[in-house]
Amino acid sequence: MELSEIYQDRNGVIGDFTPKISFEIFPPQNGDISDLFEELRILKRYNPVLVSMTYGASGGLSRFSFENIKNIRDLEFNLMPHFTCVSMLKSEIEKHITSVENLGIENILALRGDIPEYINAEELDFSHANELVEFIQSKTTLSIGVAGYPEGHIESKSLKDDIKFLKKKVDAGASAVFTQLFFDNEKLFNYIENVQKAGINIPVVAGIMPVRTLKQIQKMTSMARVSVPKKFIQQLEKYPDDTMKIGTEFTIRQCENLLENGVNSLHFFTLNHSDQVSEILDNIL
Ligand code: FAD
Repeated sequence: MELSEIYQDRNGVIGDFTPKISFEIFPPQNGDISDLFEELRILKRYNPVLVSMTYGASGGLSRFSFENIKNIRDLEFNLMPHFTCVSMLKSEIEKHITSVENLGIENILALRGDIPEYINAEELDFSHANELVEFIQSKTTLSIGVAGYPEGHIESKSLKDDIKFLKKKVDAGASAVFTQLFFDNEKLFNYIENVQKAGINIPVVAGIMPVRTLKQIQKMTSMARVSVPKKFIQQLEKYPDDTMKIGTEFTIRQCENLLENGVNSLHFFTLNHSDQVSEILDNIL
């Protein structure tokens, strides 16, 4: 099912406020997919509208990632592979996207990716994701998701600027925005308001990252513009043996608040674990 069809009642058709749950997974580094399959079988009971799978920006994991797309498709999920265009030639990109389409997959998350230091950005075939969206649109019938940043992308001068470039991705043919993780719901509400004011009318799907460890949250906040409520951090620091429990409780409250405020499309960054996400969903659904 295509993105526009999945999220068509995003503003809540009367009588249907059913949350739309989806999951992000990543290809296991060691190549052994059996554990991931087990986790996905557990998550299947929540009827996800889609499962997305990350893509190695450096290109190193790309072949492996493609093999996994084929394997995971066999579990009969609506699969949305991610795809990053940095460090790839236009011809390679065309080959990849047409191969994905030939597998019968309908959706793709089109990303620029982080530009590795050894690459000269000016020499890239595509310097920004809007160009990739346009290319995919011209070469395939894939339905295209793009990334959005409730607090602004780390390279952007301002949120306003970032939303201006988001509009370019939408004008090029994107059908849904999948956000970066956030811990302060007000940031998302503000983002959605600004996105709509900018004339962007496609659904915004909230990226939810349940915290397992303090290290994980420190890594995330060093790589991206993500503010973390002080009280949450203090709790994680104070109870280092209970970070998963604290993280789960925080995410349950966060999701409840999102649902109460009409945000019903939630995309969970599972980190390939079903336990925490299951507990959260058992509480909120
Ligand atoms: P762009 O939309 O191109 O934006 C990058 C920067 O350039 C922004 O600051 C933007 O404001 C600016 N910009 C955009 N367009 C223009 C323009 N036309 N002219 C000038 N400036 C412009 N990374 C991976 O490697 N693999 C993954 O699987 C992956 N999955 C992700 C999933 C989600 C939901 C999100 C939110 C991010 C994901 N990322 C992934 C991270 C992403 O690749 C990085 O954040 C990357 O730095 C930017 O990618 P983008 O597609 O947002 O780029």
